Amino acid sequence: METSTDGTSTDGTSSGGARAEGSGDGGSGAGLPSGARAGAGVAPASLSPSRASDFMQCPLLYRFRVIDRLPEKPSEAATRGTLVHAVLERLFDAPATERTAPRARALIPGQWDRLRESKPEVVELFADDPGGERLARWLGEAEQLLERWFTLEDPTRLEPAERELFVEAELDSGLRLRGIIDRVDVAPTGEVRIVDYKTGKAPRPEYAEGALFQMKFYALVVWRLKRVVPRRLQLVYLGSGDVVTYDPVFADLERVERKLLALWEAISAATETGDWRPRPSKLCGWCDHQAFCPEFGGTPPPYPLPLRSPASGRDPQGRMGPD
Ligand code: SF4
Repeated sequence: METSTDGTSTDGTSSGGARAEGSGDGGSGAGLPSGARAGAGVAPASLSPSRASDFMQCPLLYRFRVIDRLPEKPSEAATRGTLVHAVLERLFDAPATERTAPRARALIPGQWDRLRESKPEVVELFADDPGGERLARWLGEAEQLLERWFTLEDPTRLEPAERELFVEAELDSGLRLRGIIDRVDVAPTGEVRIVDYKTGKAPRPEYAEGALFQMKFYALVVWRLKRVVPRRLQLVYLGSGDVVTYDPVFADLERVERKLLALWEAISAATETGDWRPRPSKLCGWCDHQAFCPEFGGTPPPYPLPLRSPASGRDPQGRMGPD
């Protein structure tokens, strides 16, 4: 798909700020009203792709992140993803012919400095590395990911309409959806392509639907904002050198809207009853909250929101797949 050079926008504004890869959370990270603070115990008010995925993975994890807002340690992988995203965003500041791999590499130190300023906690990652060997290796891995991107896309032939685009839309039910789209390309014909960078490897086909769920979420938001069904959804996996595309149709958006409404109903019921069930899986190995999780012998913090009795005969947290 050829892209426009006219800078046509889908809507919204560029966040311009560093964020964790795939957070897609529109800034707050938890779909909370602006101004909500960690530990404030505020009921969720909107849904982002990452928090929707959290709930589908484990309702208790969603509670810890959105309602309790428990702190999480930065990880090398997520921070590297943030750094690579920042470089890819800034690379398009340069004229098309200057968007080269050496230029991308040259952007790394400055973006790393910027990331440390905006998120001082990432400095902890290398606190036990006084010689800087691990940091050098980590920065080298970021370089490799960026170099691989040049084998997958040619930025000299792209003119994104938007980068790191914050989007927010309200469904007829009142549910607010929000997120940040890595890149939006718009063809001269008006066709929209939504692009998301992943610094990990492409999932096996049987797990691909999870990533596509995020993209369909964005497609629905773009439809709500512009009444345009994106022509293509594109996932660029820098870890494995794969590009996965999906061309949605309107029925996909209707399906994902129904899915999100059901998800929000389940989240709302759990918010009112305080019934957030753990759902252990192999992903628990990456969960920062095992110390508070009953599955690992922990006890969640006191529930900070008002409670009502669970509705009888209702199981709001039945397993939900991505689609
Ligand atoms: S450890 Fe596993 S089951 Fe417990 S909250 Fe985290 S993801 Fe859920």
